Amino acid sequence: MASNAENSAVLQEILSSLKSLRLEQTQLASSVEAINGRVNALAGVKQSRDGIAHDASYPSPNIGPVSPKLPARGHASRDSVGSVDGYGRNLNGASSQQPLSSSPRRGSTTSKIILTSYPGQAGVDPLPMEWGAQDAQKRGPVVVSRSNNSIRRRNAIGAHGGSYSIYYALAVASHQLDTEHRPDYTNTEPAANIGPFKTWADPKKIVAMDPWGHLGPWLFKDILKNDGVEIRPTIAVTRAHMKVPELEESVRQGRLIPDGKICLNETGELNVTKFAVEPVWYLPGVAERFGIDEGTLRRSLFENTGGSYPELITRGDIKLFLPPIGGLTVYCFGDPAKMSDPNVKLALRVHDECNGSDVFGSDICTCRPYLIFGIEEAVKEAQRGGSGVVIYFRKEGRALGEVTKYLVYNARKRGSDKASEYFKRTENIAGVKDMRFQALMPDILHWLGITKIDRMLSMSNMKHDAIVEQGIPILERVPIPDDMIPEDSRVEIDAKIHAGYFTTGKVMTLEELNNVQGRAWEDVDH
Ligand SMILES: [Zn+2]
Repeated sequence: MASNAENSAVLQEILSSLKSLRLEQTQLASSVEAINGRVNALAGVKQSRDGIAHDASYPSPNIGPVSPKLPARGHASRDSVGSVDGYGRNLNGASSQQPLSSSPRRGSTTSKIILTSYPGQAGVDPLPMEWGAQDAQKRGPVVVSRSNNSIRRRNAIGAHGGSYSIYYALAVASHQLDTEHRPDYTNTEPAANIGPFKTWADPKKIVAMDPWGHLGPWLFKDILKNDGVEIRPTIAVTRAHMKVPELEESVRQGRLIPDGKICLNETGELNVTKFAVEPVWYLPGVAERFGIDEGTLRRSLFENTGGSYPELITRGDIKLFLPPIGGLTVYCFGDPAKMSDPNVKLALRVHDECNGSDVFGSDICTCRPYLIFGIEEAVKEAQRGGSGVVIYFRKEGRALGEVTKYLVYNARKRGSDKASEYFKRTENIAGVKDMRFQALMPDILHWLGITKIDRMLSMSNMKHDAIVEQGIPILERVPIPDDMIPEDSRVEIDAKIHAGYFTTGKVMTLEELNNVQGRAWEDVDH
């Protein structure tokens, strides 16, 4: 047994270690502040006159005029983190001593840039986030805003709006959007009820969207009201009619029969419930899906977005990231409650965006025909008393984007456009065949409460494998009918079938693929 004296010596040692750690942390924090101050000076950012946004080491050079009407800041923003948001937004208005309307445009000219924040930094106090907690209140709201009242309480990195977050930044920068604007959510509630399902409380089943994202402002209205933090929906649910010209033809040919409920009339007009979903990534879960560690994922996201999100590196305590990418839309035909009913059949198409074909009718691929086929089959399943669902992902050109896609088209058409060369053309340019990474796709199925798929309207082995890997069985796979395949797209579909896409028909040999050739460019004078 150690003597009291020895114990006391050990305690003293621990205490002094703690003190020196604390000192080091303070020094580190002030160094960071100093760097931030310097960045502001270099960037020529004008700072507020009241000195709150100044830092001691590098006082602002006060480049340019400073608004004499700047309000005194409330206490809430007098900490090192709160002071960084110069937009002056104050959701609850409690600490604002200036009427909101008196200087709506002062924000972007008085802010101090902060490059990043650190856990434990003065004023950093993220709202608790227990991803996968069964109870929504225990799980907590997703808060990503950098507005005055939210910045200290943020528990997510990134921004709302997915790829549109950049337009928000433009709107603010060009003084067309007042950052003090508070959304009025009256009557915006979901048009259909969904869940909660068991999967919502499984941190491994849903990692790329917020299962409570359609209810945020309503579930957490007390936090929104009392703390003034910004809580925005990342999912919205609405109802609509839709008209697709091909379906009018389907009705004419007798394939689709109007029932007045789902298919409304002889023009093929459809009744649909739509769910729009923006991405919310739980980083440990996303990393696990890809079999990588969280640190590797964070570093790659940081480095390959031009260093856009330094907090991916400095804020290991924040586990959520709202990435600047496109989301998805669910088109549900029939009663939305039937999607999760294991006693009725479900027909499902998971479709990845292809603007050229989906919207503009390009004939080089099977995208629009397969989408139309998917909608028609989904409607029929719903009419039979089951459920029909089409999910549309914004992953243009295999998530390589349209520029890369057109480069590939050029390389194909200027060479000999053969099915045997199809994937090589993409790989030569992009370095990969495909960047859609279906591993995250099944999240939406878990969210919708889907536990099995009776008819999968897709031939993709990547989609199939990702879904089955997530424990959702696929009972039947339905290829696109041959007569819906445009002639020039045979190159693509045959190459895909050869590479593993599902077919009830024949899989070609390499030699046969060599003979599948697309149309060359016509030399037409315009
Ligand atoms: Zn396409």
